[in-house]
Amino acid sequence: MSDKKVTKRTTEDVVSKTASKRKQNEVQESIAEELSPSEKRKEWLKEKAKTVKIPEEDAAVIKPGHIFLEQGPLIIHLCSECKKFNAQRPATIVGEGRVELPMAMCAICRHHFNRQRSVRFFEHELAAIKRDMDL
Ligand SMILES: [Zn+2]
Repeated sequence: MSDKKVTKRTTEDVVSKTASKRKQNEVQESIAEELSPSEKRKEWLKEKAKTVKIPEEDAAVIKPGHIFLEQGPLIIHLCSECKKFNAQRPATIVGEGRVELPMAMCAICRHHFNRQRSVRFFEHELAAIKRDMDL
């Protein structure tokens, strides 16, 4: 015998729920119509951001010896909080005609930096080598 609970819905229930759902959609649509494009984008971004997992510290370890010895350009994306933080710190003259910029990076920026380097190496450089060497 099945344990499934069978719920019999009456026509009244269906009409009521459908009407309620319709009204809810109308309310959401009217709210959406009132928002400016930038507010709509902000709401869309907030919904997307809810699904993202913030990286753990152990996934955000950076190794200068690896980073600065790689071939090609060095591209670093910083979030607005990191940019704001670094903007308040002074550049330091470190000798041999060099100035060191402050470069503090949060776990999100470090994790992204590692991912970006990994994707570039495994999905771009190795793919190009495979194609070029006909491997
Ligand atoms: Zn950051």
